Amino acid sequence: MATRAVHAGEPRQKFADSLTTPIIQTSTFTFKNSKDIEDYTRKGKDRYEYGRYGNPTARIAERRLADLEVAEDCVVFSSGMNAITTTILSLVQAGDHIVITDDSYKKTLEFCRSYLKQFAIECTIVPFGDYQALERAIRKNTKFIFSESPTNPYLNIFDLVKIKQIADRHKVLTLIDSTFATPYNQRPLEWGMDLVLHSCTKYLAGHNDILAGAVLGRSELIEPIRNLHKSMGGMIDPHCCYLLLRGLKTFPLRIARQNESALKIARYLEGHPKIKRVYYPFLESHPHYSVATAQMTGGGGVVTFVTKGNLQSAKRFLDALRLCYIGPSLGGVETLITHPGLISYYDYSRKERYALGITDTLFRLAVGIEDVEDIIADLERGLARI
Ligand SMILES: *Cc1c(COP(=O)(O)O)cnc(C)c1O
Repeated sequence: MATRAVHAGEPRQKFADSLTTPIIQTSTFTFKNSKDIEDYTRKGKDRYEYGRYGNPTARIAERRLADLEVAEDCVVFSSGMNAITTTILSLVQAGDHIVITDDSYKKTLEFCRSYLKQFAIECTIVPFGDYQALERAIRKNTKFIFSESPTNPYLNIFDLVKIKQIADRHKVLTLIDSTFATPYNQRPLEWGMDLVLHSCTKYLAGHNDILAGAVLGRSELIEPIRNLHKSMGGMIDPHCCYLLLRGLKTFPLRIARQNESALKIARYLEGHPKIKRVYYPFLESHPHYSVATAQMTGGGGVVTFVTKGNLQSAKRFLDALRLCYIGPSLGGVETLITHPGLISYYDYSRKERYALGITDTLFRLAVGIEDVEDIIADLERGLARI
């Protein structure tokens, strides 16, 4: 995978013999003459026409991602949410129904629950991990099942074998948001899932400097998504694609490191007297440990934990940190820590938050690539304040 991450999806000899991928920074593409136009319009010659219909730098990013995820085709988008919403809209029409697990990304849930209703598309939200409820929720007009794996922030693991059986029985599509796993740790298409979605903003680009998204799967499913994308217009710009391609080159190195550091940190926290509970899929204490280790190569770079104490001590912990930056997002080279109660769910009441498991002493650590001893020392400094 490390070799493919560096080279896949582009010709060996590039424009002007450049070693790196050229950024084709243009909104339009020109025709040599009238014959060139006719070869394109009448004979279907494969070429570029206008930026919203495709760009060579973006195409290389799509080919590389498809190679890594072992997918037939891929479309890249200006953000993960753009990939998710465009994909969903291309699959449903008025009168359809979808099933989504309750542990999904906040904005994905909001889109399915609120906006799809405007187009008479119904959505059933089922509790994560309740496969019977999920199967019961499927109706004649159900188009697909959508879930993340691992999920945020508890890193629950969706059982892809079980879901494949349910989907086959009812002939519905399966969509997996695999952002937290990346193709290094999990390749849902190999488990029979139909479409895989990524926020490339996270591990794939990996440097906390761009927003990008992708959907991958069989060509027959990807083609209508690509078409709708041309109308919706959420194109990723070529320079951004270059940064994505550059990030992808080191992505297997980064994930291997983040897998290793996160497991060490999870073990350290689990043994710490100031810690109540640690959630990490590759810890034996995680409720989905056996599914996680069966379908994933590594547990990923996110560690979620609950400290002892209260909101006051939680704030003291955060304020004592010197290395970990406080911020949302994950997957980059810098270690980030977030307090979901204070950041992502600030607009919820305490009662609503607690119903979702977002407690006052819950933290999500997105492990970067720094020396793990330094990250642990920083956490130790914070925990001493509790
Ligand atoms: C960040 C994230 C998204 C949204 O992606 P953006 O690139 O921020 O639009 C979707 N799903 C998951 C699991 C994410 O972590």
